[in-house]
Amino acid sequence: MTPALKLTLLLGAAALLACQPGGSENAKIEPSAPEQVETVQINPNVKILTDGALAGTQGYDIIESLTTEIGPRLAGTPEEARAREWGVAKMKDIGLSNVRIEPFTINGWERGVETGMIISPYPQKIYLTALGGSVATPSGGVEADVVYFPTFEDLKNAPEGGLDGKIAYISGRMEKAPDGAGYGPANQKRRSGATEAAKRGAVAVLIRSVGTDSHRFPHTGQMRYADDVKKIPIAALSAPDADQMDRMFAKDQDVRVKIELGPRAVGDRPSGNVVGEIVGSEKPDEIILIGGHLDSWDLGTGAVDDGAGIGISLGAAKVIIDSGLQPKRTIRVVMFGAEEVGLLGGFAYVEAHKGKDLANHILASESDFGAGKVYELRSGLKGGDAFIGELHSQIAALGIEKSTAQTNGGPDIGPMFDEGVPAIRLQQDGTDYFDLHHTPDDTMDKIDKDDVAQNVAAWTAMVWTASETDYDFRGMN
Ligand SMILES: [Zn+2]
Repeated sequence: MTPALKLTLLLGAAALLACQPGGSENAKIEPSAPEQVETVQINPNVKILTDGALAGTQGYDIIESLTTEIGPRLAGTPEEARAREWGVAKMKDIGLSNVRIEPFTINGWERGVETGMIISPYPQKIYLTALGGSVATPSGGVEADVVYFPTFEDLKNAPEGGLDGKIAYISGRMEKAPDGAGYGPANQKRRSGATEAAKRGAVAVLIRSVGTDSHRFPHTGQMRYADDVKKIPIAALSAPDADQMDRMFAKDQDVRVKIELGPRAVGDRPSGNVVGEIVGSEKPDEIILIGGHLDSWDLGTGAVDDGAGIGISLGAAKVIIDSGLQPKRTIRVVMFGAEEVGLLGGFAYVEAHKGKDLANHILASESDFGAGKVYELRSGLKGGDAFIGELHSQIAALGIEKSTAQTNGGPDIGPMFDEGVPAIRLQQDGTDYFDLHHTPDDTMDKIDKDDVAQNVAAWTAMVWTASETDYDFRGMN
């Protein structure tokens, strides 16, 4: 018998006990099996919440609503503004209190025309997309010989000035991993490829998409220019188009391409965080913050990134409200704006709450890694082993292990984590996440109802345990 299965059986027994009249607050099961196993205590209210989540479609329905009724919602656009109005209405409909938009302003950016052709040696169209923040090519496009770099390291090792008038092409594959460990290394060429190529005189950059699929969808994502270099346009090729380029270079051919990219900076644009609460019954000033990000890239409908996180966090709040249970501490749900373009909602949240109630945030976590099942609990608590153990006992039956990996709670939580807010993360299986990430293929059909329900169940257990525990997260009590 696997440990997970054993815990599942014990949980079932705990549920039976929890229903006994006059039963203790925490049903305690001592296993009779001869081998040694952990004692499992399931809080009966956690059982009510996780059962409610596993039997329902609260999270799934929210993702469906957002992706269907709003669709793509790039930061700073009218579509993101419509998503905020959607978020306010949805929170009110679910029964959250103190629902509001906390506005902030961003530098807007919009995509334009984007086309690519291999001119020689084998003329054909290529599929590409501009990276977020990229400047445009001259209108009519730029045509140049391509210099091939198998990896970003190869470009960084190239001498300065060697790319005058050329287009740099940076290949390099991203490795699949459940926790997305391959993303950080693969992402460097996306973030800094334009800067490194410009230092060497290039007129434009192509990269192999940062992704793990083999489909003909290029992956966008935010890039940055260093202050002291010329801004040159940068686009990502779909994986099969990158393969095509690689094969031509493998034949020792000189490759010449023409690309036209028309994105533009559009100046100040409105964004905002949407905030709502379940006000705590005993410690309303102590805040547990959960959320996801409301914006998406413009190519897909942002189902896995991050409609899923909105559905999971808000779905957990709905399950709690629908149960009639009253948490002792305040549960604050935040739909962060403008995450994709630089975690701007996370920074704006700190700016708005620092010196006010930020010091009362006892725990924060964001769901922003798709819709796969949670498999691991990660801590960003200083100390806190007692709480992690307490929480793990409530979620182990959902198939969730305890990890020694540390977390900052998620992208938009990072800025408040840096200000001392304790964080935690329910790590999802993202093995396939980067097949879809930032592509036109990030759509609702990729969302699995049962996986989302498992997530929502884990989040209700996490939020409830944090709201009721005697553990003193910040030495406040
Ligand atoms: Zn995201």
